[in-house]
Amino acid sequence: LILQEANEELGRLNFSYEQLLLALKEEKSKSERFAEELRQANAKLEQIAFRDGLTNLHNHRSFQDILQREMARTKRYGHPLSLVMFDIDYFKNVNDTHGHPAGDQVLINLANTISCAVRPNDLVARYGGEEFAVVLPETDRIGMRIFAERLRHCVASVTTVTNSGSIKVTISCGGIQYSQHDTLTQQELLEAADRGLSLSKRNGRKRV
Ligand code: GH3
Ligand code: MG
Ligand code: MG
Repeated sequence: LILQEANEELGRLNFSYEQLLLALKEEKSKSERFAEELRQANAKLEQIAFRDGLTNLHNHRSFQDILQREMARTKRYGHPLSLVMFDIDYFKNVNDTHGHPAGDQVLINLANTISCAVRPNDLVARYGGEEFAVVLPETDRIGMRIFAERLRHCVASVTTVTNSGSIKVTISCGGIQYSQHDTLTQQELLEAADRGLSLSKRNGRKRV
């Protein structure tokens, strides 16, 4: 009788052990699923926090963070850094003539064009409406000038085909080099690049 009861108990134990194993496997795959969902949610959150919704370029906040980091790197390691700001010429006319959605298409097309034209280390951001900024690490004023001219020609050669016709735009650029012993603040650096941009506008636009 004792042996029979012991066998029955053993059977019950075996059964509950298998159930436990099954439940554990289910929990494990559930937690793996949650981890994957969390990873996707984090990626989406990062996209929303650091990227511009229209062009997918870095947004203003992300740009400021990266510029700050690059300026600190220049201070520490002594490599030059350049900042280029540019703005689409007479963009209001594009919206007025072709409509806002077509204007948006131009912005998207421009963003893709620029992203392909820069080096992997360079950072392109949408600074404001139709104003953009490019941070060029390890680049001095000569390299910056060559880059800005190349960018200007690149943009001028692109056509955006929309439902309301083909659109071509030009840009005006301004830029500044930042070096290890410069005492400019981040704000002052931005203002200096922007002054260059304003000068290009005043001098007739579509220029660096
Ligand atoms: P300038 O050569 O002096 O830069 O002339 P502009 O017409 O480009 O300058 P202005 O600042 O007068 O106009 C900028 C225009 O950019 C007006 C605004 O409606 C447009 N804009 C800004 N953001 C967007 C956007 O996200 N989509 C579209 N379609 N237009 C935008
Ligand atoms: Mg403009
Ligand atoms: Mg503008």
